[in-house]
Amino acid sequence: MNNLANESGRNDIDSKLEDYTGNHYDVIIIGSGPAGYTASIYTSRAKLKTLIISGTLPGGQLMTTTEVENYPGFPSGITGPELMMNMQQQSERFGTKIVIDEVTEVNFENRPFKIIAGSLTATADSVLISTGASPRKLGIPSEMNFSGKGVSYCATCDGPFFRNQDIVVVGGGDTALEEATFLTKFGKSVKIVHRRDVLRASKILQERAFENEKIEFIWNSAVVDIKGDNKVSMLTLKNLKTGEVRTIESGGLFVAIGHEPNTSVFRNKVDLDDKGYIKVYGNTRTNIEGVFAAGDVHDHRYRQAITAAGFGCMAALDIERWLSERKVKP
Ligand code: NAP
Repeated sequence: MNNLANESGRNDIDSKLEDYTGNHYDVIIIGSGPAGYTASIYTSRAKLKTLIISGTLPGGQLMTTTEVENYPGFPSGITGPELMMNMQQQSERFGTKIVIDEVTEVNFENRPFKIIAGSLTATADSVLISTGASPRKLGIPSEMNFSGKGVSYCATCDGPFFRNQDIVVVGGGDTALEEATFLTKFGKSVKIVHRRDVLRASKILQERAFENEKIEFIWNSAVVDIKGDNKVSMLTLKNLKTGEVRTIESGGLFVAIGHEPNTSVFRNKVDLDDKGYIKVYGNTRTNIEGVFAAGDVHDHRYRQAITAAGFGCMAALDIERWLSERKVKP
């Protein structure tokens, strides 16, 4: 069953999806993070009939972030959910329709493109894919209980909340080492827990981490449990070679073991790279004419709310131009 959010906010859902079934849009935007909402603000202001299919958790990764301090325009910071609610309202103010459901099928072989989300079937002259990426999880039972309560997937976002604490970072790639080095600005100590005794990260990041006196490596180990009252305070580590289990004090756990792009529904529909990210050709175009991509679904380098919003803006301008060049929209 689909829900259609209205102008008073995503929790006040009173319209019937059936009103929109079979409707045709100038643009359908799949995904409702900063990229999707920003694109919709631009396309709906440009009088393009715009539908967002938001996914079942509208707002994307920022909905699980507490304070956002690095999004320009909010000198005292803003919570992730509030920022996304603002973006949603700004988008709806210009006429964007929002359906809260998961896209289950796309047909990009013929135009207009066809999108199916639950019981909704809609067509569009152009499509923007902005479904983002999800941080890979450790997969231990206590992880989700402490998400936002000491467990974080983004050091840039949350590092400053861990001043003078003992911090643990899991992972052995570029992100883990870059984040660990960044976190030494705030934490009393930073321990990198890696499942092997060889790092995947680039040499320069390795050297930087090895030289940093605040960083200690715990090799061949995994975090197997997280403990605390309202917030992380202890971690249980297991040595994967010896089987030894021990507990260490820690106020924060940063999981930096990679991201998974949310592209499973687009497999064999648009070109993906070997890690599953959408390939873009010349800014925001995919290999299918009329299908565009923006945000973390194609960008695994920057992965910031502000860069995703920037890509959303770029995609909207590319879509407007593409539609007007083809006179799909006068
Ligand atoms: P990544 O390169 O895939 O590394 C993931 C790390 O997490 C690996 O060390 C892996 O261990 C470990 N890991 C994966 N699953 C795990 C699990 N379930 N439990 C414990 N550990 C697990 O991911 P990334 O570091 O996020 O980097 C992604 C891409 O962005 C890379 O291409 C990277 O070069 C790039 N990047 C570049 C920069 C930069 O240039 N400054 C910064 C950040 C990222 P194993 O090594 O044992 O597989």
